[in-house]
Amino acid sequence: MIPFFFQNTKSGKKEPFQPKDPNSVSIYSCGPTVYNFAHIGNIRSFLFVDILRRSLLLGGYKLNQSMNITDIDDKIINESIKRNMSVEEFTKPWTEAFFQDLSTLHVQTLEHYPKATESIEDMVSLVETLQRNGLVYERDGNVYFSIQKFERYGELSNIDVSGMKSGVRYDADEYEKDDVRDFVLWKNQKTKEEKCWHTRIGTGRPGWHLECSAMIRKIYGTGIDIHTGGIDLLFPHHENEFAQTTGAYPNEEFVGTWLHCEHLLVDGEKMSKSKGNFYTLRDILEKGFEPRVVRYHLISAHYRSKLNFSLSKLDESKVALDRIQNTIYRLLDSTGLWDDVPKDWKEIEFVSSEIQKLNSDFLQALADDLNLPKALANLFELVRIVNQTLDQTLTESSKIFLKEALGLFVKMNALFAVFSFEKQKESLDGISEEWILEQISKRKLAKQNKDFATADQIRKELESKGILLADTKEGNTTWKKAQ
Ligand code: AMP
Ligand code: ZN
Repeated sequence: MIPFFFQNTKSGKKEPFQPKDPNSVSIYSCGPTVYNFAHIGNIRSFLFVDILRRSLLLGGYKLNQSMNITDIDDKIINESIKRNMSVEEFTKPWTEAFFQDLSTLHVQTLEHYPKATESIEDMVSLVETLQRNGLVYERDGNVYFSIQKFERYGELSNIDVSGMKSGVRYDADEYEKDDVRDFVLWKNQKTKEEKCWHTRIGTGRPGWHLECSAMIRKIYGTGIDIHTGGIDLLFPHHENEFAQTTGAYPNEEFVGTWLHCEHLLVDGEKMSKSKGNFYTLRDILEKGFEPRVVRYHLISAHYRSKLNFSLSKLDESKVALDRIQNTIYRLLDSTGLWDDVPKDWKEIEFVSSEIQKLNSDFLQALADDLNLPKALANLFELVRIVNQTLDQTLTESSKIFLKEALGLFVKMNALFAVFSFEKQKESLDGISEEWILEQISKRKLAKQNKDFATADQIRKELESKGILLADTKEGNTTWKKAQ
C-alpha cells in the first residue's frame, strides 16, 4: 500500500492518511439534489470523488464508498407540487439523469448510493439521541439543533459563533453563508400537499443536514475515514453534520479526513443554477465536445484550485488529449500490439528503470494530496519518450521498452479513464468519429448564424464520405454510415 497524504480541512494541514482499515476505507461524499440536471460545476465535484477513488485503488487500498442522493428538500417539494406529481415521480428521472451523466464520464460506481427518503427511520433515531443529549428544542412542531449547547460548534470550519443570539433559527434548506443560526433537524408539515412522514418525532420531513449524518451512521455504524464535498458545503452543511454526529456520539471521531473540492468558475464567479451561468453536461455534448474531453478538462486542475471554465479552454484540452491519444495509436500501430494490450493494470510489472521511475513518480503525485497536474506531467513525459523512441528505427530492445510504455499508459488510464486502446473503426474509411462530430458542430454553428450555404456544404462533404446526417426534433444531429 502506498502511503497517502491529504490536506485535511479540519486541521488545515497536509497529514499522513491513516485509515482505520486500509482494506475497507470508508468514504462518504455529499451527492446531488435531484431536481434538475447537474451542471458541470457539480460534476467537477463528482469527478473529484472518482479521482479520489481511482487514486486510492491504484495505491492498493480497498474501498467502501458512498454518495447520498438528496431526494427530498424545499425545492423538490415545491417543484413536484407545481407539476402535480409525487416526490418520487418527480425525482426519478433526475436521479436517472445523474447516473447517466456519471456513466457518460466513466465515473466508477460506488458501493452505496443511499437516498434520503429511504433513511427516514435513521434520521428519526438520530434526532432522538440528540434529544436525550439535551441538544435540541422544539418550536411550532419543528425540531432545532441548539448550537449554543454544543461547545464544539465551529470547530470544523473555524467559524466564530460568539456573536450569535440565542434562539435565532433557520428553517429553510438553503442558507446564507457565514450566518450562524440554530438549524432545523425536523420540519413540521405546513400544507396538506407537502410530502410528509408520520414519525415518533412528529409528522413532517427531515431538514437537509440531517440526512448525511444519519446515512453515515446507517452504512458505517461509526465514524469514517474521509468525507468530501464542494467547498461551499464546509459551512454550514459540514459544520452541522459534525455537530449532529458529535453531539449524538461525543466519544467517537466523526471523520478522520475532510476533503473539499474547489469551485468551477465562469468569468471569475462560481458556476451555479441560481446565477444562471451554468452548462449541463448535455449542453456541452450538444456543442460537439466528447465526454472524454470534458472529463479530462475537469480533472486536470488540482482539486483545491479554482478552475475557470470556458469553451475555448475545453478546445485546448481536446488538443492536449488528442496529442496523447495519437501517441498511443502510433505506438500500437508501430509495434502491432493491438491484441496485446494488458486488460488489468494490477497485473502489469515494469522492468525498464525509466518506466519504473515514471510509474513511481506518477503514483507519488497521486499520493501527495491527489496532485493531478504533477501526474499529468508524468503522462506527458511518457508521451515525449515514446514519441522519441518511435522516431527512431525500432530495435528489439526498443520494442520491449514500448511494450512497457504501453503498460504504463494502461495503468495511467486507470486514473484518467479517457484513452482508447482499440483500433478506430476501419469502416469509416480513414476518417475519425471525432472529425465527424467536429463537422456536425460546425454545421450547427453555421445554421445558428443562418449561414445555410456552409451548413449544406458540410452536409454534402460528409455525404461524399459516406456519412449521413439526421436532425432530431430536439435540434440535435445524429450520424450514420450510408449502407
Ligand atoms: P447540489 O446538487 O447543489 O447539492 O451540489 C452537489 C455538489 O456540487 C456539492 O458537493 C457542491 O458543493 C458541488 N458544487 C456546486 N457548485 C459547484 C461548482 N461551481 N464547482 C464545483 N462544485 C460545485
Ligand atoms: Zn452532506
